[in-house]
Parts: sequence; structure tokens; C-alpha cells
Amino acid sequence: MKEFDFDVAVIGGGPGGYVCAIGCAQRGLKTALIEVDRLGGVCLNAGCIPSKTLIHIVETYHRAANMQSMGIVAEGLRLDLAAAVSFKDRVVDRLTKGVAALCKGNGVEVIRGRARFTSPTELEVAGSDGPASVSARRVVLATGSEALEIPGFSFDGETVIDAAGALSLEAVPDRLLVLGGGYIGLELGTMFAKAGSQVTVVELTDQLLPGTEKELVEVVERRLRRLKVKVHLRSRAVSWEKGQGGAAVHVELPDGETDVEPEQAAQIRELLNLRIAEWTGSRLQSLSCTDMLAWRGMIVDQRINLGIAPWKEANNY
Ligand SMILES: Cc1cc2nc3c(=O)[nH]c(=O)nc-3n(C[C@H](O)[C@H](O)[C@H](O)COP(=O)(O)OP(=O)(O)OC[C@H]3O[C@@H](n4cnc5c(N)ncnc54)[C@H](O)[C@@H]3O)c2cc1C
Repeated sequence: MKEFDFDVAVIGGGPGGYVCAIGCAQRGLKTALIEVDRLGGVCLNAGCIPSKTLIHIVETYHRAANMQSMGIVAEGLRLDLAAAVSFKDRVVDRLTKGVAALCKGNGVEVIRGRARFTSPTELEVAGSDGPASVSARRVVLATGSEALEIPGFSFDGETVIDAAGALSLEAVPDRLLVLGGGYIGLELGTMFAKAGSQVTVVELTDQLLPGTEKELVEVVERRLRRLKVKVHLRSRAVSWEKGQGGAAVHVELPDGETDVEPEQAAQIRELLNLRIAEWTGSRLQSLSCTDMLAWRGMIVDQRINLGIAPWKEANNY
């Protein structure tokens, strides 16, 4: 087993982790960055960067398709989503390579594999090059979050997909049901509406973008109406079944009725679970780190939400 000894080991190569690792190395600390997947985390690989790249492409298409009143007629215009996704993948590839170069240039040692605590200052990293043992005086947890499945809607990668799946679709779905009217659901829902999908948003609370000021939400609602996006507030998607070429989704509406939208539902091709509020720190569970956190004076609840233990306990570390 390979062995490494560092001042700092950062677990997770997303924007939280790699920026921290580079900062530590720039301050003269011997630093490791441990990443099980691709450097850049969700943001670069399946979040901010790919979503904004595709949104920009689809927005360009949508504008070109709606300029007849200004005398611009684009005949034969079509959106080749597979080509757009491949362009997006090249952008992502370039940026993740950029992160690797930044780490190297700043003297951060990148270790590939999944980290797990074996003691408060020691980690075991299971990587494709075999296991490695990493010891470090300080360990930074930057393991990010992942999409949480809504009961009854397990991701199957085909009909029920998460944001990453939505950003890799190679054809524009006829119909799209977005579960959760948070910013991720709305930005992707809006993008697919502009690409030509008929989009429905189901949101549990009484407003879109929960927690956002009403005046701002009204602007978004106006835009959604113009794009003919259907919105169900105070509604809950309870189950789904396979229909012809898609899914029939049962939605509990606020008046207690269930809307199955039979003739539409049969055509629903994709379904997103994009509830940002339900992204959790669940990846921490796989680190075997709850004991380590307690030892360092932190307490966690069942969803690994962090709290700080009383100062007296914290002082023991
Ligand atoms: C569709 C979408 C659009 C978004 N758009 C925006 C936006 O426009 N602006 C914005 O600010 N935010 C946006 N976000 C949110 C943003 O992506 C996250 O806030 C950000 O990625 C969090 O960074 P992080 O470093 O904390 O975690 P992550 O990016 O999740 O990185 C964590 C990394 O840790 C690694 N890891 C986990 N466990 C282990 C382990 N045990 N061992 C080794 N490695 C491990 C993972 O593989 C991952 O690479 C968007 C998210 C999505 C899904």
C-alpha cells in the first residue's frame, strides 16, 4: 500500500475542495487533494458549467427561431441536442483539465480514489491504482452533495433522471415533468421549454423558488407563462408508471384531487428530480466520518447536517 504524509488532505475536488487545496499549498502547506471522480466536482462536470453552456446554446436557438417579426427568417433551423451536448462535454473536459493543471502548478498532490477515515488523522484511499494510506494533520471535508430521490421516484437513468441526466439527453423530450420548482429545476425546465418540450413543474410549497422574494418570483412566473410551462404549486408527485413511450405520473393537487393527465402523461418522456432543498451531505456517510467529527467536537444529525458540540467537548480535540 502506498503511503503519503501531508499537512492537509482535502477530500473532494469540487470548487470547495480544489480552491481550498490550492490555497493551502500556496501558503506552504504540503497538501493532498483526494477525488474519486473527475476534478471540478458537480459544478464543472454536472452543474453550473454544463447547464450554462447548454442554456446559452438553447437560448441562441430560441432567439433565432423567434425573430421573424424583426425580419430575420431562419429557414430549416433546428436544434441538434446531441451535437450541443458533445460541445458541452468538450467545454467541461477543457475546464477539468484546467483544474488539474492549476493543482499541479501550485504543488497540490492529486490522489485519485475514494477516501475513508481509518483514524482521525488517517485515510484509506481506494483508487484504480490500488489502495493508498494518507495521513494528514488536518483533513478538510469537501465532499459536496448529491441528488436525493423522492419516494417512489428512484432514478433509473432513463425515465426518472437527475440534473446530470438532463444535461446529457441527446434528444429534446416531447414532454418533461420537473419535480421541484427550485432554481435548478426551473433553469433546466426553462431551457427545455425553449428547446421545444412541453414542460410541467410540480412544486410542494406555495411558490416557485422557495425562499425567494415574491416580486422576483413573479418575473420568473411571467416568463414561464410565456413559454407555456404549466406549474402545479402545493402539489406532490406520488407515483408513476410506464406509459406508452414515457411515464404516467400521479400528482396530488392542493384540492385533494389526483391529476394523472392521462393523454399527456403517456407522452412524458423524461422526469427530473431536481429538488435542491433535498440535496444533502449524504456523501459524508460513506467516509465513515461521524466518529471523527464527534472527536473533533462536531455533532451531526441523521442527515449529517453539522452542528458544533458544546465548547467544553470541542476543546478536547
Ligand atoms: C444543474 C446545476 C446547476 C448549478 N448551477 C449553479 C450556478 O449557476 N451557480 C452556483 O453557484 N452553483 C450552481 N450549482 C451548485 C454547484 O454545482 C455546487 O454548489 C458546487 O458544485 C458545490 O461544490 P462542492 O465543492 O462543495 O461539492 P461538489 O462539486 O459536489 O464536489 C464534491 C466532490 O467530492 C468528491 N467526493 C465525494 N466523496 C468523496 C470521497 N469519499 N473521496 C473522494 N472524493 C469524494 C465528489 O466526487 C465530487 O467531485 C448547480 C448545481 C447543479 C446540479
